[in-house]
Amino acid sequence: MDGTREYEVVILGGGPAGCAAALSLRRRGITDILVVEAGVYGSIRIGESVPPQFNALLQSLGVWAEFRAERHASSFGTCSIWGSERLGFNDFLASPFGAGWHLDRVRFDAFLAREAVRRGISLVAGTRFGDADILPDGDLLLRLSDPGGASHGVVCRFAIDATGMSARFARRMGARRELVDRLLCVAARYECVASPAFPALTMLEAAELGWWYAAKLPGDRLVVGFATDPDIARREGLANFRRWEARLRETAHLFPAMAAARYAEGSVAVHPAHSFLLEPVAGDRWLAAGDAASAYDPLSSRGICKALANGIHAARAMADRLGGARAGFDAYAASVAAEFDSFLRARRHFYGLETRWPRSPFWRRRRDEPLRMRAA
Ligand SMILES: Cc1cc2nc3c(=O)[nH]c(=O)nc-3n(C[C@H](O)[C@H](O)[C@H](O)COP(=O)(O)OP(=O)(O)OC[C@H]3O[C@@H](n4cnc5c(N)ncnc54)[C@H](O)[C@@H]3O)c2cc1C
Repeated sequence: MDGTREYEVVILGGGPAGCAAALSLRRRGITDILVVEAGVYGSIRIGESVPPQFNALLQSLGVWAEFRAERHASSFGTCSIWGSERLGFNDFLASPFGAGWHLDRVRFDAFLAREAVRRGISLVAGTRFGDADILPDGDLLLRLSDPGGASHGVVCRFAIDATGMSARFARRMGARRELVDRLLCVAARYECVASPAFPALTMLEAAELGWWYAAKLPGDRLVVGFATDPDIARREGLANFRRWEARLRETAHLFPAMAAARYAEGSVAVHPAHSFLLEPVAGDRWLAAGDAASAYDPLSSRGICKALANGIHAARAMADRLGGARAGFDAYAASVAAEFDSFLRARRHFYGLETRWPRSPFWRRRRDEPLRMRAA
């Protein structure tokens, strides 16, 4: 990348939201796009289970046939222990979109990036957005750095912030994350040696200190996560695999189902899983999409679909704006906020169903605390 090359649109972040925005802009005939991705699509990513609606989103991006050839694992629904000791099922049998999926996230994100490049979009991986300035004519000067630390400037008319929860660009522009909670998830990987019996369902199990989930991934691997609050995780030492696994062993359904699974040494890691809405979601020359715009509790299993849908909607608003119509940015921001409100109502409903531990701070907070907290 030389000096200060100019683009119509620069997309910061090449995850699901950024790649969906790029593919969608391309389908609208906009080609002067650069996607800037900090990673190189090699390291572990979290978030794997997607509902059947995902299929329709890939169809509208024009990558459905290519996705099917990638052979991710089908998911037929969810089974859960939530609100009682009984196992409940919510299957996808009646879905008009077919089954959902358990994705290999590294492979899926790399796939979307590859499809974008195959369609002629410029994408630079291993390149991090650092800072931005607004130039006198309103254009944006973005400062990027490559893995060697060398920095470059790129000028664009418009930017889409798809940097995930960090919302790095939007926050540089003065936006704030209105946090609802600071949930985190301690997750580990397992190999299911000779254990094809583990169901092709996402498994959920509520516990006194939070809730567990597990999903079988392509290649007979398993991801197991525990969602809780940071103070609880600290007090219980849950970042330590032995302490975390001791809690896992207490589960009634999940641990027994993992009989033949073997821990992938060193894989336990803590992931932020906050819920928040960015305020504002759009500026004069930019939009945020995916987790940069709003992040949902992973209980919803909607993050990836939302990222793809936001990318598609943001691209439509951006295409309108490039054509001179401004209203699309406001409509986009309003729809992100309205969907966030409906997520908050669903979140309250689902956490409210679990009443077995009335004194547990984890469940009490979700019942009693105000719905929104301002970012520090
Ligand atoms: C524990 C956990 C479990 C989850 N489980 C599920 C699930 O089962 N199903 C589901 O649908 N969702 C799940 N999610 C949510 C899902 O992972 C996210 O909603 C989804 O990844 C959002 O996509 P995105 O493209 O907006 O952001 P991301 O996937 O975070 O992508 C952002 C991209 O931006 C890049 N980037 C970041 N900063 C910069 C920078 N400064 N410069 C350039 N590039 C940058 C990153 O490298 C990354 O590639 C889960 C999340 C968590 C935390």
